[in-house]
Amino acid sequence: MEFDLIERIRRHTESHRDDVKIGIGDDAAIVAVPAGRELAIAVDTLVEGIHFPVGTDPADIGWKALAVNLSDLAAMGATPAWALLALTIPTQDEAFIDGLARGFAELATPFRLALIGGDTTRGPLTVTVAVHGFTAPDEALLRSTARVGDVVMVTGTLGDAAAGLRCLAEADTSPYAELIGRLNRPTPRVAVGQALRGIATACIDVSDGLVADLGHICAKSGVGADIDAALLPRSSAMIAHFHDADAIDFALGGGDDYELCFTVPAERAGDLSADLARLGCGATRIGRIVEGQGVRVIGTDGETLAPSRAGWNHFAA
Ligand code: ADP
Ligand code: MG
Repeated sequence: MEFDLIERIRRHTESHRDDVKIGIGDDAAIVAVPAGRELAIAVDTLVEGIHFPVGTDPADIGWKALAVNLSDLAAMGATPAWALLALTIPTQDEAFIDGLARGFAELATPFRLALIGGDTTRGPLTVTVAVHGFTAPDEALLRSTARVGDVVMVTGTLGDAAAGLRCLAEADTSPYAELIGRLNRPTPRVAVGQALRGIATACIDVSDGLVADLGHICAKSGVGADIDAALLPRSSAMIAHFHDADAIDFALGGGDDYELCFTVPAERAGDLSADLARLGCGATRIGRIVEGQGVRVIGTDGETLAPSRAGWNHFAA
């Protein structure tokens, strides 16, 4: 059974890269790292019922399992190259495997990312992807290097995935297709991450909510951040379907956005917005790095806001 499933995955994800010496089919993959490059490596697991709802389209699961990993490479400013896929499935469901591999390939192909191996086992549905990307020495974007006075920016719009998750509870989900699409098929901001090399002082991808993730930059950099809730970028779908207070709550605490949050010296922020817009994904200035610690959110009334959800924490009571 296993061989047949692996062969199906291999067929759907076929790609050619000169740097893959041995791909799927041997005991281990062999790849060649280009001279003068370093590897950025990340791994993320999606568990059914925790990271995606039961009943999610298998193609969306395949897409998302890769997307969350490419988002980590994007946040480092790295260029994607190779991936491993470890799959745990309850039954030998060929249609499911075909769908999952197709969704994975849909996202992998435009990045010329090669699936070079993995593992297939029986058990509760769990999808783990590991990715490898290239960076030049000292070029990667880190969490630990934000500076007081930097401007804080974020790509795209925030809160859509959390809003989409809320919309899945509705009897008729069709009015919310755009928000649900943002939940199921997040867009990793790979081109933006690469464009930020040498410009951004620090960067992180927003997977657990803005306050939690910007909080990681603050903690690692030994600084604080002031965020202006009125500046948080909202999609037109969000504005159409949710009140301001909900939209702000989703943006600050909702997870699964996979936008990039980054810091830049104030004098670079203006030009950068225009440059990034040309890459098809604008970025919005939402606040500033300050002395101190932690993320402070200034509400639309000018008062400090206490978010009702401080980001997604797997181990919270
Ligand atoms: P082994 O028992 O030596 O670990 P496997 O039967 O697990 O070998 O895997 C055989 C080959 O298929 C290996 O090259 C492995 O990397 C690849 N492979 C297994 N499962 C997957 C998967 N889900 N996606 C991609 N490649 C896989
Ligand atoms: Mg194996």
